[in-house]
Amino acid sequence: MVVHVESSDLQRYGELQVTHRIYAFALASLAGCALRHDAAQPISSTHLPFPSLPAEAREILNQLVAVDTSHGNESEALRPLAARFAAVGLASEIIESSPGRGNLVVRIKGDGSKRPLLLLAHIDVVPVDGQPWTVPPFAATEKDGFLWARGVSDDKAMGAACIAIMIDAARNKTPRSRDLILALTAGEETGGDAGIGHLLSKHKSLVGDAEIALNEGGGILLDEALAKVQAVTIGTAEKSYQSFRFSVKGKGGHSSLPPTDHDPAAILARAIVKIADHRFRAHVLSDVGESLRQAAGFETPPMSAALLRVAGSAPTVHEGDEAVLSRDRMYNALIRTTCVTTMLKGSPKDNVLPTSAEATVNCRILPDETRDETQQVLIKVVDDARVEIAPDGDLHVGPSSPIDGDVRRAVEKVTHTKWPAAAVYPSMGTGATDSRHLRNAGILAYGISAAATSIAEGRRGHGAHGPDERLPTKWLGEGALFLRDVVVELTK
Ligand SMILES: [Zn+2]
Repeated sequence: MVVHVESSDLQRYGELQVTHRIYAFALASLAGCALRHDAAQPISSTHLPFPSLPAEAREILNQLVAVDTSHGNESEALRPLAARFAAVGLASEIIESSPGRGNLVVRIKGDGSKRPLLLLAHIDVVPVDGQPWTVPPFAATEKDGFLWARGVSDDKAMGAACIAIMIDAARNKTPRSRDLILALTAGEETGGDAGIGHLLSKHKSLVGDAEIALNEGGGILLDEALAKVQAVTIGTAEKSYQSFRFSVKGKGGHSSLPPTDHDPAAILARAIVKIADHRFRAHVLSDVGESLRQAAGFETPPMSAALLRVAGSAPTVHEGDEAVLSRDRMYNALIRTTCVTTMLKGSPKDNVLPTSAEATVNCRILPDETRDETQQVLIKVVDDARVEIAPDGDLHVGPSSPIDGDVRRAVEKVTHTKWPAAAVYPSMGTGATDSRHLRNAGILAYGISAAATSIAEGRRGHGAHGPDERLPTKWLGEGALFLRDVVVELTK
């Protein structure tokens, strides 16, 4: 979820840089506290030869967020990890898709009775330019019970947890039914071709034999007080991403003599108003129904009642309920394909008539609908042959992963042991992740989280891609241990 908040607190930035240094010292001494939570560590905490999994994950997370990977540069964040892996006898490899765009792959052998499990996390982040951050974005700042930094939730906490899990697995030498592979990749935020796409097309033997992959796209949802886990979601499906270019040709000329018959900007404007007013068909997929039912618990009437009814009537959405859900951005996006105009282009000069007026319309398509069907709907809605509508690029569509299977069983088992009151259910992402590349390559990809947070935190704008991205500190270690336990279940 991307929600932007305004902040007028920029002046505190300098003050917090100082605070950050103090916290760095405090954190080093706090690291030992996490040991008590890690019940599965076989070594007594009185003479530990190495840090606990939560402490190690945290130390790695601090290192990862300190490297600005918002414009590439993933190799710089990945290079120091080679020594960590080497120290536990693992040979890692960094493959660059272009200079600086590194992808790290490391594998622990199993007995081969099952096909490998792939852990995937992306190391790139979205830029912070123009965002009102109140802390330095490329440093780990701990304050108010949160860890603040660009990428902390998307996707470096997951990356740090996965790295610590690999190191933990190498140390413990438990017998495993499958190879465990970790891929830390570049360029997810720009489509994945520099990262997992590159590995799957050019180095398939490194990751392509996996049966199952655990990637971002799931959730550990906390209550408003950040005191307990309410739900664990497993990402089984996601919408696909497809932009369309709308263009209307014009004759150009001097703006003192406007066209009286064919004004490309006006024709285009009418078309995009029609798109803005259009609602694609509402229906509820099997990956979505349960999340709507659960969401009812976080809402008040009439939304809560409408959500419950829609979960009950799925896949059908009755008209009255549709009107209620469609007023909320998130629920609206869960029940239908959406298309929105994001870019406009006309003449390069104010006194020159445009020879073409163009709009980019970005669509997020439900997994049971196609790019071609969406294009046909757009053409029908606009209903004007002067507006040319063509797909702009191709970010690939991936199938969904089966809801029932090994991953759901493992997640349910671990969740019920750790947090007995928490619900477990599948979910569909409204955005796209690298999972579509994996699913297209025949790997069953699932969204799992190692970073607990609340829905309210996302709504306050502290989630992925926003300014002041942050996670509740006390849950970081628990999240890493949760993911570790799921991995142990899946590699038994
Ligand atoms: Zn991400």
